[in-house]
Amino acid sequence: MNVPLLDLKAQYAPLREEIRTAIDEVCDAQYFILGPKVVAFEAETAAYCGTKAAIGVSSGSDALIISLMALDIGPGDAVITSPYTFFATVGAIDRVGATPVFVDIDPVTFNCDPAAIENLLANWPDRFAGLTPRVIMPVHLYGQCADMDPIMALAQKHDLAVVEDGAQAIGAEYPAASGTHRAGSMGTTGCFSFFPSKNLGGFGDGGLVTTQDEALAEKLQQLRNHGMNPRYYHKMVGGNFRLDAIQAAVLSVKLRHLDEWHAGRRKNAAYYSSAFEGSAVQTPAMVYAHSDVQQPHIFNQFIIRVPNRDAVKAHLTEQAIGNDIYYPLCLHMQECFAGLGYAEGDFPQAEAATKDVLALPVYPELTEEMQDFVVKSVLEAV
Ligand SMILES: *Cc1c(COP(=O)(O)O)cnc(C)c1O
Repeated sequence: MNVPLLDLKAQYAPLREEIRTAIDEVCDAQYFILGPKVVAFEAETAAYCGTKAAIGVSSGSDALIISLMALDIGPGDAVITSPYTFFATVGAIDRVGATPVFVDIDPVTFNCDPAAIENLLANWPDRFAGLTPRVIMPVHLYGQCADMDPIMALAQKHDLAVVEDGAQAIGAEYPAASGTHRAGSMGTTGCFSFFPSKNLGGFGDGGLVTTQDEALAEKLQQLRNHGMNPRYYHKMVGGNFRLDAIQAAVLSVKLRHLDEWHAGRRKNAAYYSSAFEGSAVQTPAMVYAHSDVQQPHIFNQFIIRVPNRDAVKAHLTEQAIGNDIYYPLCLHMQECFAGLGYAEGDFPQAEAATKDVLALPVYPELTEEMQDFVVKSVLEAV
């Protein structure tokens, strides 16, 4: 049985007419960049995330870059983040000329450990003495929020901005002391990606920045269009970070189904978790599964930890079961960041994760029969 890691054709089939109608409207209007479809989508996503504003941009990577630009982050500034994330998180920091400073992850959630951030700020390394810490950039990895209350408290104490990388976690909820909040609504900005493999995926690249700060929202809107305001007058240099109307049209249709897809993924995750109980397979912990949290995890990825990961991976691949390693090499160990002066052993939890994590198919259209085959195949190999 062939079980892909993700099957977007299965998602598209029941939405085909609805999506093609939405695309047709854009074709008929011939209004392709920004415009009414983007404005409507921004209002819908702001409401969905629980933020005052949402700004459609060209990708998740650009959402991160434009957030840092809007906060005037650049050379001499340090951005505290995770060494265990997709490259774009850290790439964005480097792209604006700032320096990433890493903290280890919590081994249960794979997210930045707030105690490590506190320790870093209290014992700022000598080799970063020339840098000013300006931003904490937590990543809500795999679809579960980082522990935001202590992160926001540290940011407040040290006067830092918080840029949430929510690329994998749109709709994920966090039980803050002040109430339940969605990813992207707690920090200074929230950044999302509509890369096709995310839970809310477009028909191409796309992204979003959310914020509760209306002045910042206006600045972000200008920056995504070359800092232009009014037309052909530029007080600042931005870029072309615009979202196009076809993406917004498709995403608006898909957004209406998003919570039901999240629920399907959670159901599949629960099925795996009970099937692997008592085995050597470590399944993900849903740490915010409290009664008032509807979406404690959106399972963009379902990640198991197994001691003989490479053998399990080879066996699944042989059985035509989609699987992948997110991520095989920490960011502090990447060749392009060698200049930062990190070494193997600096972040033991993140490094350990690279050696034993494996993503299994968890998309909502997966059948029980397919899941049983995945479970059987994993158990054969562990
Ligand atoms: C996907 C992703 C991004 C980048 O999004 P793109 O739309 O592909 O540019 C950034 N951060 C994380 C954690 C991601 O998973």
